[in-house]
Amino acid sequence: MVRAENVHKSFGSLEVLKGVDLTVSQGGVSCVLGPSGSGKSTFLRCINHLEEINAGRILVDGELVGYRERGGKLHELSERDVARQRQSIGMVFQRFNLFPHMTVLHNVMEAPCRVKRENRAEVRDRALGLLERVGLADKVGSYPGQLSGGQQQRVAIARALAMRPKVMLFDEPTSALDPELVGEVLEVMKGLARDGMTMIVVTHEIGFAREVADEVVFMDGGVVVEKGPPGEVIANPRQERTKAFLSKVL
Ligand code: ATP
Ligand code: MG
Repeated sequence: MVRAENVHKSFGSLEVLKGVDLTVSQGGVSCVLGPSGSGKSTFLRCINHLEEINAGRILVDGELVGYRERGGKLHELSERDVARQRQSIGMVFQRFNLFPHMTVLHNVMEAPCRVKRENRAEVRDRALGLLERVGLADKVGSYPGQLSGGQQQRVAIARALAMRPKVMLFDEPTSALDPELVGEVLEVMKGLARDGMTMIVVTHEIGFAREVADEVVFMDGGVVVEKGPPGEVIANPRQERTKAFLSKVL
């Protein structure tokens, strides 16, 4: 479903990604761990082409992201085509970025109505269903400012799901939350994983990775140092760098 091959990304002279490979199959969950500055967010941003890559390629559902291949060369897609591709890639950030002047329900309805121009009544039904799924059926008429951080993050998840993405990318979705609110967001993500959503999750929640991930990817210095099932990478890391990192976060 998602395949990243030899992805390179530099900002000026700073080489942030030095050939990252990652494959997530349909319904699979990959958790990406790694120290600050290792390139985790940059990598996620490359997957939905918020960043251009300097080398390598990324495919989502068999389709090259951000580029078209012609005569053995890659040509960048138009803004419009990139926007269309992004519709199938949901993203949830550390900060929830909800529209403050819109109700919870309208936050979730906004993109399908405005970007995809879908039927409003259908979108509304879907949004209500999603809000129920994330445990916020009683908050549909509230404004983001009236919600806790954990509730806002669950709205952000529902909002991403409203576009019916093929894959969901999460960039440390719980790290801005008070500790007592982390669990409710992780529960929603576990539910998504159980229901077969394909997910790439950058997280420091080792317990979540251990329980939910099919594959754990440990990144450091812009490369994948080690990857494999949680029972190997978390329980029994082989690389010294992985061991050192885990000893700090566990
Ligand atoms: P964290 O755990 O702190 O979120 P990360 O693994 O997500 O870290 P990135 O945010 O991907 O790390 O950053 C990797 C490196 O790339 C850092 O050195 C960062 O300063 C640099 N970087 C990221 N975005 C840019 C940018 N737009 N311009 C220049 N440098 C950038
Ligand atoms: Mg980051």
